[in-house]
Amino acid sequence: GTANIGVVGLAVMGSNLARNLASREGNTVAVLNRSRSKTDELVAAHPEAGFVPAFSYEEFAGSLQRPRTAVIMVKAGGATDAVIEELVRVFEPGDIIVDGGNALFTDTIRREKAVRETGINFVGMGVSGGEEGALNGPSLMPGGSDESWATLGPILRSIAAVADGEPCVTHVGHDGAGHFVKMVHNGIEYADMQLIAEAYDLIRRGTGKSPAEIADVFAEWNRGELESYLIEITAEVLRQVDAGTGRPLVDLIVDQAGAKGTGAWTVQTALSLGVPVSGIAEATFARSLSSHPEQREVSRELPGPAEDSRDALRVDDVDAFIEKIRLALYASKIVAYSQGFDEIRAGAAEYGWNIDLGRIAAIWRGGCIIRAQFLNRITEAYAATPELPVLLTAPYFVDALTRAQSAWRDVVATSARAGIPAPAFSSSLAYYDGLRAERLPAALIQGQRDFFGAHTYKRIDKPGTFHTLWSGDRTEIEAEDTH
Ligand code: NDP
Repeated sequence: GTANIGVVGLAVMGSNLARNLASREGNTVAVLNRSRSKTDELVAAHPEAGFVPAFSYEEFAGSLQRPRTAVIMVKAGGATDAVIEELVRVFEPGDIIVDGGNALFTDTIRREKAVRETGINFVGMGVSGGEEGALNGPSLMPGGSDESWATLGPILRSIAAVADGEPCVTHVGHDGAGHFVKMVHNGIEYADMQLIAEAYDLIRRGTGKSPAEIADVFAEWNRGELESYLIEITAEVLRQVDAGTGRPLVDLIVDQAGAKGTGAWTVQTALSLGVPVSGIAEATFARSLSSHPEQREVSRELPGPAEDSRDALRVDDVDAFIEKIRLALYASKIVAYSQGFDEIRAGAAEYGWNIDLGRIAAIWRGGCIIRAQFLNRITEAYAATPELPVLLTAPYFVDALTRAQSAWRDVVATSARAGIPAPAFSSSLAYYDGLRAERLPAALIQGQRDFFGAHTYKRIDKPGTFHTLWSGDRTEIEAEDTH
């Protein structure tokens, strides 16, 4: 074999990743695709890359140096299983199979276990940054064994995005850890996008500014603490004018948000781990709500706030209003990221992964959709306190939340009074107030649960587990701890 790495699956992601690999000193890249045409096209279009094309799995395995290393970039799901089966057939113990597709982490855990029994290494790797990232530098989140990382590490470091001089790749943890972290990255991305959309909506309806004028606001925000790729592209999208009609493009786009399912995975996983990722959940549900035109159609005539409440949004001081929204956005963003890192922390505990949370924030600074300077603050927070139980309690974030406090409450109250949906803003604030509450009405819930299901409760004033005889004489008895 002459190639030191191979790529299977040459659609947009795979061919770009193969080109990225081939462009690095010392790499020779073998390429294979199910249907021959993609391979022929890629090799013909990029003679400079020196690809070693293969047209069967046997030929592919033969073209690779030992230990063989192959990255799979095919459609997630059954296609990935089919390719793994073929590779396992032609590879040998010690070889490395990397899945760079968007696999569900539980599939990765299953695949890693099955492949490991053959002596071959299996690495599930999250790849972020879309096609542009795959070509010029993605953020890479590999899981898998330490042994695989020893071989893969240098190759991955050479093709990853670079942020502040550091490649955006780290060995996240064993088996499904990489795909888990990629999943949460996407969930955070949903929340960040929804928060930006809510900010835009409030500014537009509150000030009557045009999309192009609001683009200027976002461009200005991009010079401050909100600086990020998503804020930057928001300005670009808002500034776009439709060539045919001369109207802002955003006003011509159907207002139904699509989703490929990674946000839903993040929320489903959080539900089973018992982690309240309310910002990500609201963002995911907001996309679902938008995508039911039949329900929105029949709901259009539902009553809204009375005329005088709608005045809530009549803005006198436009600049002050926009500044409040900026602060509310920043505070809600801190909550969303804090919740996402909470999910990673809980996932690591559940699945036995040793994940360095500060490193995760660091490798998201380049290549990723959520890349932002802000992520440095997260790295610093975990550097100072690695076992930080709630990210938003780090001093820097407490300062930011203190500064944003009254504006955040104002914006949520104003949106409620004016009848403008701001689900991510308001749920973030509710989460924040829930965390800081001295007492929660969960005490009442425990009473209700004990009433109808004898689920028992604990008391603040003495140890033990108790049950009240609700249907009897309502005396309290000490109960067996059923938990
Ligand atoms: P697609 O997800 O569209 O998958 C197409 C590729 O899968 C083709 O090479 C196709 O081969 C191959 N394929 C499909 N079924 C099979 C099968 N049964 N056996 C063998 N090969 C099969 O390609 P993308 O490049 O968009 O994405 C690749 C992976 O990367 C996906 O898992 C995706 O989720 C993930 N990803 C994508 C990102 C993006 O921005 N697009 C970002 C990050 C990850 P053929 O040519 O023969 O049909």
